[in-house]
Amino acid sequence: TPELLTIDAFIRHWAADRPQRPAMVGERRIHFAELDASTHRVATALLAAGLKKGDRIAWLGKNAVLYFTLLFGAARIGVVMAPVGWRLAAPERRYIVHDTESKLLFAGEGFADDARAMAPQLPLVQRIFSADEAWAWIDGTTPAPFVASGPEDAILQLYTSGTTGNPKGVELCNRNLFGLRRQAQQAGLPWAAWDDDEVVMVAMPCAHIGGTGLGFMALAGGVSGCVMAEFTPDGCFDAIEKEGVTRFFAVPAALQMLVNHPRCAKTDFSRLKYIFYGAAPIPLALLQQCVQAFGCQFLQAYGMTETTGTVVTLPPEDHDPKGSPRMRAAGKPVPGVEVKIVGPDGQTVPTGEVGEIVTRSSNNMLGYWKQPEATARTKTADNWVHTGDAGYMDADGYVYIHDRVKDMIISGGENVYPAEVENAIYGHPDVADVAVIGVPDPTWGEAVKAVVVPRPGHTVDPAAVIAWARERIAGFKVPKTVDVIPELPRNPTGKILRRALRAPYWEGRDRQVN
Ligand code: ATP
Ligand code: MG
Repeated sequence: TPELLTIDAFIRHWAADRPQRPAMVGERRIHFAELDASTHRVATALLAAGLKKGDRIAWLGKNAVLYFTLLFGAARIGVVMAPVGWRLAAPERRYIVHDTESKLLFAGEGFADDARAMAPQLPLVQRIFSADEAWAWIDGTTPAPFVASGPEDAILQLYTSGTTGNPKGVELCNRNLFGLRRQAQQAGLPWAAWDDDEVVMVAMPCAHIGGTGLGFMALAGGVSGCVMAEFTPDGCFDAIEKEGVTRFFAVPAALQMLVNHPRCAKTDFSRLKYIFYGAAPIPLALLQQCVQAFGCQFLQAYGMTETTGTVVTLPPEDHDPKGSPRMRAAGKPVPGVEVKIVGPDGQTVPTGEVGEIVTRSSNNMLGYWKQPEATARTKTADNWVHTGDAGYMDADGYVYIHDRVKDMIISGGENVYPAEVENAIYGHPDVADVAVIGVPDPTWGEAVKAVVVPRPGHTVDPAAVIAWARERIAGFKVPKTVDVIPELPRNPTGKILRRALRAPYWEGRDRQVN
C-alpha cells in the first residue's frame, strides 16, 4: 500500500480495494463504498453549512456508526470533531462543548433532549441535530468536490480524562492518528499486522482515545469496526460470539467485569486474537486471571491522550499465566517512539532510577486547544511530552509505570507509589477493590491510607488487610490505616479519582506535590 497518512487517503484506498467489505457495524451496517459515500456527504453538508477547515463540531452521545460517519466525514476536510463524554454531569458536558467553540452539536440516540437543554448556555452553537435529523441531513446531501485535509491538519479534539484537574482539549492531526501504526507495521510487529477478515470491537467510550482510536485502527487496517454503544459485559460476549470479534481494547476495570462474569467460562474465544489493555495500572492478579481465562494474546498499551494513546507496549510473549517479573512492566517503546526518564532538573536519570517519563514521537499532539501555557508546560519546543507519570526503565529498555507524579506519597522521606500498594492488597480474599492515598500525618508528613471495597457478602477487617500487606511489601509502604467504603469514585474511563478520595482528609490544607 502507498504511504497513507490522511483519513481521506485511507477511505479512498479501501473503497477502491474492497468496496463491499463491512466497514462499520452498529446501529447501521455499512461497507467501505458506503463509508466513502456517506463521509463524502458529511464533508459536503458541513461545507454547505458554512464550516471550514479548523472549525469544530461536537458529539454528545454513546458510540455509534453515526458518530464515526460524522467524525470521518468532517476529518476529510479538516473540520475537527470533539466528542463529549456522555457519562459526565451536565455542567461538565457544557464546559467542554463551550470550550470547543463548536458551531454544530450532534446528539446521539437518546441525547437530543439533553443537548437542547444546554442550548441557552451555548451561544456559539447554531444548530443541534438529533440522530435521526443528522442521518436525514447526511442522506439528503448530494456529494460535491472538496479539498482534503493534510497530514498536519487537526481532525480530532479529545478531552483528557480530568483525573488530575479540568479536562484539556487535546488537538490531534491526521499524522498523529496514522503515523505510528504504520511504523509498527513496517517494523513487522505481529500485533500491527492485520488479516483482511478481522473485526475490531470499539467498546470503550468514544470520548476517550481507547474508543475513538480503535475506530481509526479499524479504518487504517481496512477491516470492520464493531461499534458498541457502550461497554457492557453481555454486549461484549454477544459481539465476540455473533460478530466474530478478533481484537478489542479494554481498561482494567472493564476486564475485571468480563473475567468475573458467569458467561466468561462459557464463551467461545477461538476467533479472538488480541486483547489490548491499558489506560490505568492493572493489578498483576487480575492480568494473570485474564491471560488464563481468554487464552488469546495480550498486549498492554501505555500512553495518554496527548500521545494519541499507545506509545509503549508489553508484547504477548511477556505475558505468562503464572506471572513473570516482566508482567509488571508497561512494555517497550513502539518503533519510532523515544522514551526518557528524567529527574526534576530535566536530566536523564540512571537506568533503574525513578523519574518522570517523557516521550517523543510523531504521535505527540499538536497542543492543548486555546491553552498555550499548558501546552508549553507539557510539550517542549523539540517535541518531548512530559507525561506526569513516574516510572523507571530497566537495562533491557522496559518501562515500568509507578504512578502519577502527583499521586506519589512521601511518607517519612520515603516515596510510596499507590499502585504498588494497591497491587499488594488486591489479592486479599475479602477485598473487591482498593485505592491508596496519602493523608496528612503529624509525624510522617503523609501517611499511607488504603480505602477498600469489600467483596459481596464479605466484611473487611482493617487489621487483617494491614497484616496481609506487611507480608508483601516494605514496612514504609504498608497502610497505617484502612477505610471501608461501598464503592470507589472512578471517572468514565475507569480510573480511580484519588483526588476526590483525598479531598476530605486535606480540607483546608495544601498538599505538597513535587
Ligand atoms: P488528566 O490528564 O485530565 O488528569 P488522564 O491523564 O487520566 O486525565 P488520559 O490521557 O486518558 O487522561 O490518561 C493518561 C494516563 O493514564 C497516563 O498519564 C497514565 O497515568 C495512565 N495510564 C495509561 N496507560 C497506562 C498503563 N498501561 N499503566 C498504567 N497507567 C496508565
Ligand atoms: Mg493526563
